Amino acid sequence: MPIEIKHLTHVYMPGTPFETRALDDVSLTIHDGEFVGVIGHTGSGKSTLIAHMNALMRPEVGHVLVGGVDVGEKNQSLIEIRREVGLVFQYPEYQLFEETVEKDVAFGPQNLGLPEEKIAERVRDACAQVGLSEDLLGKSPFELSGGQKRRVAIAGVLAMKPSTLVLDEPVAGLDPAGREELLQLIQGIHQSGTTVVLVSHSMDDVARFCTRLIVMNKGRVAFDAPPREVFRHGSELREMGLDVPECARLCELLREKGMDLPEGIFRVQDCKRAILSALGEGSKC
Ligand code: ADP
Ligand code: MG
Repeated sequence: MPIEIKHLTHVYMPGTPFETRALDDVSLTIHDGEFVGVIGHTGSGKSTLIAHMNALMRPEVGHVLVGGVDVGEKNQSLIEIRREVGLVFQYPEYQLFEETVEKDVAFGPQNLGLPEEKIAERVRDACAQVGLSEDLLGKSPFELSGGQKRRVAIAGVLAMKPSTLVLDEPVAGLDPAGREELLQLIQGIHQSGTTVVLVSHSMDDVARFCTRLIVMNKGRVAFDAPPREVFRHGSELREMGLDVPECARLCELLREKGMDLPEGIFRVQDCKRAILSALGEGSKC
């Protein structure tokens, strides 16, 4: 179910001294099966952009089509769109409210009017998908760790079986181990056939997982390309308050020192291989 965004502009509080143009003529399409990273400085429009992807916000200027359906059209039912495009908010754990994990994850499927056994099956599947063991189902979400709470919230969205999962800075505030685990889980969700849109602050995270990057700057799309191409624009990214991944920077520094390293390296494994190979060749001389 592709998401097409056409000439989307959004202005908060128009006509007031606080008027902010959060999106300015944004056009892009999310295709089935992609793993898209959305990156940009704070305030660049990332959250406003993704809120339009599942019609949480409806376009005022421009169009958003989900599976060919124009979400801005009056009288358009949004239920199906919100089921197809699951949106995980930033700090989603603050929205947990049920007495047990099971009830919280079941909330969405229950609203779909599914029979009890189907609901139970969806809850089990969604929890398994995010690595929550069944013995947690009866617990209160508030007894869980921060990382577990966040997984409960994600499971609640997955239980709707969305074809696209959109996550707003899902690893913000987690420790390094928690971040890594959650990123691996999201990668697994993508590999099992779900389209993923991941909003992130971290160039290193998006470099590792995403096949395409959308770089937002002041409400506009600055770059929309595979990571390798985006990271060629180091100086422009720095001007936007962003940076290339650490590996790319390391390679740049080593190149300046005379090491013969190929362009376009931004993942740890590739970086390690290239340096070892360069050193190996060096020792032959
Ligand atoms: P990001 O997610 O990249 O940090 P946002 O989409 O949250 O960016 O914000 C884009 C711009 O819109 C910022 O300048 C922000 O201050 C402003 N903004 C966001 N939400 C609101 C709101 N509810 N009311 C007024 N201004 C807002
Ligand atoms: Mg945001």
